[in-house]
Amino acid sequence: MSFSRKMRRSKANKSKKLAEKELATKVALFGKLPNKCLTCERPFDKMDKEQVMTWNVVIKQQEEIVRLYCPECWNRALKLVKETKEELLKRKGKKDAILSTKQ
Ligand SMILES: [Zn+2]
Repeated sequence: MSFSRKMRRSKANKSKKLAEKELATKVALFGKLPNKCLTCERPFDKMDKEQVMTWNVVIKQQEEIVRLYCPECWNRALKLVKETKEELLKRKGKKDAILSTKQ
C-alpha cells in the first residue's frame, strides 16, 4: 500500500518539476523579448496592454530565439505567405492547363 502511494507521489513530483522547468524557460525567454519590431524597428512597450495583445511573438524554444513583430509587419508577412501560396497554385494550375491541352 505504502509503496504504491510513494510511487504515485514521486510521479506527481516529477511532472510538477517538469512544469516548473518549462515555466522557467518561458519566463527566461520572455525576458529575452525584444523591445522593438524585428522588421520595422517600431518600439514595443511591454507595459502597453494593447501592444501586448496585438503584437506577435514567435518563440523558438530550442534555439532560445524570440522574435517580435508589430501587427502591420505580421499582416504583411501573412499576406506575403498567402500571395506566395496563391502564386504557386496559379503556376501549378497553368502547368496543369498546359499539360491538359497537349493531351
Ligand atoms: Zn513592424
